[in-house]
Amino acid sequence: MQKLKDIENLSIKLNDTCNAQGITRILEEIFQTVNIYIYDFTSECLRDFSKSWMSIDEFGDKNNAKKLYKTFELLKGKKYILENNKLFYALYQGQKLIGMLDFAKIPENDGLEFLNVASYLISLKIQNVILSEKMQKNIDFHDAMKNIAKIIETQYENSYIIPIIGEMIDKFVCGHLIYIFINNKLVWPSACKDEKIFELLKCLHNKSEYVLTPDKKIGLFPLISENKLLGCIVTKSTDNILSEKEISYLEQLTNQAATTINRANVYAEILKHATLDALTGFYNRRQLEERIKQEVSGAKRQKRNLCVIMTDIDYFKNVNDTYGHAAGDLALKHVSAVIKHQLRDYDIAGRYGGEEFAIILPFTKLEEAEMVAQRLRKAVENTKIDISKINADANEKIISVTISLGISEYTNGDNEKKVLQKADKALYKAKENGRNRAEVYEEISADMP
Ligand code: GH3
Ligand code: MG
Ligand code: MG
Repeated sequence: MQKLKDIENLSIKLNDTCNAQGITRILEEIFQTVNIYIYDFTSECLRDFSKSWMSIDEFGDKNNAKKLYKTFELLKGKKYILENNKLFYALYQGQKLIGMLDFAKIPENDGLEFLNVASYLISLKIQNVILSEKMQKNIDFHDAMKNIAKIIETQYENSYIIPIIGEMIDKFVCGHLIYIFINNKLVWPSACKDEKIFELLKCLHNKSEYVLTPDKKIGLFPLISENKLLGCIVTKSTDNILSEKEISYLEQLTNQAATTINRANVYAEILKHATLDALTGFYNRRQLEERIKQEVSGAKRQKRNLCVIMTDIDYFKNVNDTYGHAAGDLALKHVSAVIKHQLRDYDIAGRYGGEEFAIILPFTKLEEAEMVAQRLRKAVENTKIDISKINADANEKIISVTISLGISEYTNGDNEKKVLQKADKALYKAKENGRNRAEVYEEISADMP
């Protein structure tokens, strides 16, 4: 009876867990120390299920690994092997031996009988976990591909695209650090101390295929588009070697990424000559700066009033992270449309950076600018953004965002940089004071350290 209860308990506990750590913990509760080795039929090696699927050839004592392979061979067709006061218990999938439990101590009393039934449950659960991890990886990979494709359509700033690519790759290649180099310069993340990587990069050319170091710890996946070597995505092992599947994923992703980056370069070249921002239809930064220059010099000459509002969407990274970048783009379009709608014909709006807009208000006194800022703030807050077509899986169908605003007034002697800087300082204050608010630049407080 007791045995039945134990089995039932085990089954309930296994049911409640969904990962390797959970299974290991449950077995350790029952048997104290136990290792779980699973045979990986793709790369033909035994892997430690509890140690993030690491191959046993990759860590620990080589002799021990050899012994484990031998035991695994001997175990075929058997239920268990007793060896030097140790017990190895077989895990089967049908007739096929897929792994073994390695007990440091032989379980007492009815332990073997218990394992007779328990090993089936454990084996089934392990197979389940492996399968769902594989599926999750596939889903992540397809998400990554889809996202990169989406970015191609709407983005042209490599400073924005590259971190997204880096983060996506990082998400599904486990046990590796990811670096992205463009023109031999590290662009993501901010540091790489491994000199060997820089040496290896020098060997790449525009016909290169991916390169693995002999120990398979470092992988270089060149970014090649239209026969040009743009850069390279580098993986560096922290504890895993790259599996064939991961290599094939990385090859596909680097291809896709190379196309995206190349397009961004081409776009950037074209946009140097353009005046409007593609996503919002506002002036782009360069053009905006040009216009501010003109307005400041007009205000100076004719002693006109002039104000500038700098605005930035609050917690915008959260919007991207929660609802996806396409939803973020839609929010940007909505915010820019609201701004456009609220402004007078002779006001000038531009996209200053990613989710930052600058608004030039000619012939405007500070009090009026404050009113405009509050109007903009409220209008954005009340705008409903329907993301149901863009992200059908999101819990919310309608979202909204808020903006913070900084207002500055041109005063005699200011140049265009100074006016923008003052608005930016006020914006910073609005963020500090809680966001979804507007602040006016004040000479004394804003300049204090
Ligand atoms: P804060 O309230 O302090 O402004 O927080 P934040 O999250 O908005 O600030 P942060 O500067 O950390 O993040 C800005 C984010 O805007 C980061 C970047 O992913 C996103 N972003 C920039 N340009 C674009 C774009 O064109 N489209 C989308 N979807 N996101 C963008
Ligand atoms: Mg922001
Ligand atoms: Mg910002």
